[in-house]
Amino acid sequence: MIEQYDEKEGYCKMLGHFLTFDYCRSSNKGLPCSKILDCWFQHFPVQEFISNNYSEEEQKQIFQAPKLKILSLGEILEEAQERLKKQ
Ligand code: SF4
Repeated sequence: MIEQYDEKEGYCKMLGHFLTFDYCRSSNKGLPCSKILDCWFQHFPVQEFISNNYSEEEQKQIFQAPKLKILSLGEILEEAQERLKKQ
């Protein structure tokens, strides 16, 4: 049952306050927060929870590294020119 740990409470270092697990398991566009294993492993078998409730594809989405925005040299120059114009 996906709601079985919803009432558990923990401190979120990212948000700076206590919250319940139901937030953590749905805060990433309906999927769990990418930090879920680090934050909850001491409270209950969270890895097992993830394996039992999410497909491999969903797990890839949950734990994928944030995409870096890579700017081309042209974009960097354009942004620099814009900043200079404003000064
Ligand atoms: S899993 Fe994410 S939202 Fe939940 S406590 Fe950890 S950092 Fe905060």
